[in-house]
Formats: sequence, structure tokens, C-alpha cells
Amino acid sequence: MIIIVDKINKTYKNGSLELQVLKNISFKVEKGEFLAIMGSSGSGKSTMMNILGCLDNQYEGRYMLDGIDISKSTENELSEIRNKKIGFIFQSFNLLPRLTALENVELPLVYSSVPKEERHKRANELLEMVGLKDRTHHRPNELSGGQRQRVAIARALVNNPSIILADEPTGNLDSKSEEEIIEILQKLNKMGKTIVIVTHEPNIGEIAQRKIVFKDGEII
Ligand code: ADP
Ligand code: MG
Repeated sequence: MIIIVDKINKTYKNGSLELQVLKNISFKVEKGEFLAIMGSSGSGKSTMMNILGCLDNQYEGRYMLDGIDISKSTENELSEIRNKKIGFIFQSFNLLPRLTALENVELPLVYSSVPKEERHKRANELLEMVGLKDRTHHRPNELSGGQRQRVAIARALVNNPSIILADEPTGNLDSKSEEEIIEILQKLNKMGKTIVIVTHEPNIGEIAQRKIVFKDGEII
């Protein structure tokens, strides 16, 4: 098992307001699996994904990732795990507008001080893999939504993570771009990557090996 979450509880606290959004969530993901998380808006899917992605460590319960007890890890350990093991894809792409596609993809490698030539080579290979060989010097506003998301996928892959987490990656895309993104995710899964995707699209739910459905912070 690459992911084991055991009795996760999460409550958002804003002043005197408290909202429990995850209630005793437990599930497992096998290495190489393609898992879809579905469920209506506000049911706690993104909250769960942020925990899985080590973006949030304010919760109760246990989270084991590739044998590491994430729920006991320090901030420094979490950021290292995030960089090495996880590729995160967001609905809103989260690209830096002033940087070209190539520079966006390279950025995580700049932070880890990889030499320039090696960075270029790796980023170019990944952009080619997502079908953007001829768009490497374009900025995000010169790309379509689907192309932006493909840049974001290339960036998520740059440190060769074993797990891809995608939170509604096609939520802002037309159906043709959506198909392209799904094809890329399927290809990555065939290459051995573990994929956890949050989606409303029934057709992605069909492609996934397994579905779990959230409702009001619980798995139904
Ligand atoms: P989903 O991704 O399934 O739409 P979310 O995990 O984003 O659901 O949100 C679950 C619930 O938690 C919602 O009621 C949302 O308003 C609330 N919520 C999300 N983020 C925060 C936050 N940072 N502070 C307080 N409440 C939040
Ligand atoms: Mg969400």
C-alpha cells in the first residue's frame, strides 16, 4: 500500500466557529492504482487532497505514505516528501504568469539547485511528453486552458514523483481538452504512477480502477 489513511478527522476553526469537514475517514491506495474521489461540492474532497499532498498537517488520525508516518512528520520533512514523492495538479493550474512554459516546468528544479542544462533537458522532455514541444517559450496567457494544464502536469512530474494527486484537473476545461488530460493521466498510470484524482466527470470515474464517494465528510 502506498497510501493508508486511518480515522482522519479534520475541523476548520475560524474564531468561535467550528466546522468538522472530515469525519473518521479511512481508505487505502495500492501502488500503481488509479483512484477517483467523487462527491458533491463541499463534501471535503479538497480538504482530503490537501492532507494527502502534505499541504495541510492540521488534522487528527494517521496518514502513512510509502511507509512514512506523515502524521508525525515535521514541516521540513513534509516539504521534502512533497518535493520528492508527490506531484500535485490543481483545477486552476497555478502557473506563474511571467514565466514561459519551460521556466514554469523547471522551477522546482531551480529550488533544488539542479544545473541549468540538466533542468532544460528534463523540462523539454516532459513538455514533449505532454505534446507541447512547440510551445516551450510561450507564457501561460499565450496558451489554451488545456495547454496550461499540460504545462502544470509536466511541472508536477519534474521531480519524478511516484504519486500524482489531481484535484478537479479538468474542472475549467472544455471536453476536448479534458480528454487530452485524461489520456495523459492514463499514460502516466500505465508507466506505473499511482494516481488519485478528484473529479465530477463520470467518464473519469469509469477509467479509474476504483471510486470512493464523499458525502458530508464521510465515505459512502
Ligand atoms: P470539496 O472539495 O469537496 O468541494 P472542500 O474540502 O473544499 O470540499 O470543503 C469542505 C468544507 O470545508 C466546505 O464546507 C468548505 O466551505 C469548508 N472549508 C474549506 N476550506 C476551508 C477553510 N480554509 N476554512 C474554513 N472552512 C473551509
Ligand atoms: Mg474541491
